[in-house]
Amino acid sequence: MAEKNMSPKKTPMPEQVPGVRVRNFNEVALGYTPEQALEEARRCLGCKAEPCVGGCPVGVRIPKFISRVAEGDFAGAADIVAQANALPAVCGRVCPQETQCEMECLRGKKGDSVAIGRLERFVADTRAQAGAPGATVASGARGARRVSVVGAGPSGLTCAGELAKRGYAVTVFEALHTPGGVLVYGIPEFRLPKEIVRREIAGLRELGVEIITNVVVGKTLSLDCLLGEEGYSAVYIASGAGLPKFQGIPGENLNGVYSANEFLTRINLMRAHEFPKFDTPLRLGGAAAVVGGGNVAMDAARCALRAGARRVYIVYRRGEAELPARLEEIHHAREEGVVFKFLTVPTRIDGDESGFVRSVECQEMELGEPDESGRRRPVAKPGSTYTLEVSAVVVAIGNTPNPLIVSSTPGLNSEPWGGITADSETGATNRPGVYAGGDAVTGAATVIQAMGAGKAAAAAIDEYIKRL
Ligand SMILES: Cc1cc2nc3c(=O)[nH]c(=O)nc-3n(C[C@H](O)[C@H](O)[C@H](O)COP(=O)(O)OP(=O)(O)OC[C@H]3O[C@@H](n4cnc5c(N)ncnc54)[C@H](O)[C@@H]3O)c2cc1C
Repeated sequence: MAEKNMSPKKTPMPEQVPGVRVRNFNEVALGYTPEQALEEARRCLGCKAEPCVGGCPVGVRIPKFISRVAEGDFAGAADIVAQANALPAVCGRVCPQETQCEMECLRGKKGDSVAIGRLERFVADTRAQAGAPGATVASGARGARRVSVVGAGPSGLTCAGELAKRGYAVTVFEALHTPGGVLVYGIPEFRLPKEIVRREIAGLRELGVEIITNVVVGKTLSLDCLLGEEGYSAVYIASGAGLPKFQGIPGENLNGVYSANEFLTRINLMRAHEFPKFDTPLRLGGAAAVVGGGNVAMDAARCALRAGARRVYIVYRRGEAELPARLEEIHHAREEGVVFKFLTVPTRIDGDESGFVRSVECQEMELGEPDESGRRRPVAKPGSTYTLEVSAVVVAIGNTPNPLIVSSTPGLNSEPWGGITADSETGATNRPGVYAGGDAVTGAATVIQAMGAGKAAAAAIDEYIKRL
């Protein structure tokens, strides 16, 4: 058995240096070499109680796969991961492990936790480099029972893969021209290369999952039509939370004001940063203000820098300690030159005579009493406004589920804030045969939570169909 590595620190991940990466869209984190993976895997204590597994919504057998890595059996490790996770190279890159599996790691009590995400990424990438797709598990024959899935994001794809493994014929209907959901239109290439997503989706197609793009359920086809004339036995709704929120301040209709979703889609799917080679423009000649303090705001700010903005501000209404984004993302944004304007709220966006953004009026804030979320509420500091000269404003203050499916499906219950009402264990809605999960039910959350919901719903759909 290999000797344990008792270093209190994680084996560092090689990265592109800030001055270079800010001029390209290539991946920032470069991945472990086999030697680095072995070194890190030997930090795992192999706890019998497996507390880390409890922190993983899809239940990857973490100590088991890491022990295979420590033995140098990278293919065996990848097999163990693939049994539970259909998108391991994606999750290894974008999961907030520090609040999930790694938070439960015993090594984290006296030093850094084991770098579980980096090892998951390593085994998934190594497997793919050896020519195997990311999620290979024995392919089930396409059965007579048909299930449809609405939305090809991580939740829908996971549910589809699980059902295909159980022998169902599964069709995923996706509104956009390409599958992947936020993984392709939201998360930038420098954090999650689109090729990785394509590779893992190819693995699902090999399982027999059919994906039909450019179909908007609720417009092109109704949910009732899927269950009726189209002959599906059940439907899983995984349509995400793609409806952006705005502040409702004057000037939001000016040219050069984008929701973060639109801004990131223009870059990720339409390659606006290569305009005019690609036919989608972005107005980033001068400075840009990104409003918000979450991961979406960090992604938008870092994209704006790479796409040519001269200077990029993050405008956030609370202080640094309250930033909801992952520490790693904040650190990367700062290294790349993003300027943070804390305790600041935009109050008006001003334009020039042609209707294009010229500046944002900002109000300074201070922190008052805690609000219902437990965080101190920002209150305006009287007489403290100032102006930021910018040519673009990106609003990244949150998203809610799109109301289309609920409004086009008679009798489907929803919450007052727009989420579809579904059982938290099974995803069952009030309509027989209709299940829902992921961001469409919880509101904006995480990739792995959406995947966990897809997996649980697949098991419930299987039970439901067996009873028909
Ligand atoms: C910019 C950004 C960065 C993020 N970064 C991270 C991160 O680093 N780590 C992390 O864990 N989470 C991150 N998240 C959150 C995470 O991506 C989501 O929680 C996750 O993608 C939700 O998965 P989902 O399958 O429920 O929905 P989505 O990924 O939104 O997929 C829903 C799919 O349904 C399709 N659809 C919608 N309506 C219809 C319809 N009527 N008919 C057919 N198809 C439809 C959509 O086009 C979309 O493809 C990020 C989110 C954003 C926006």
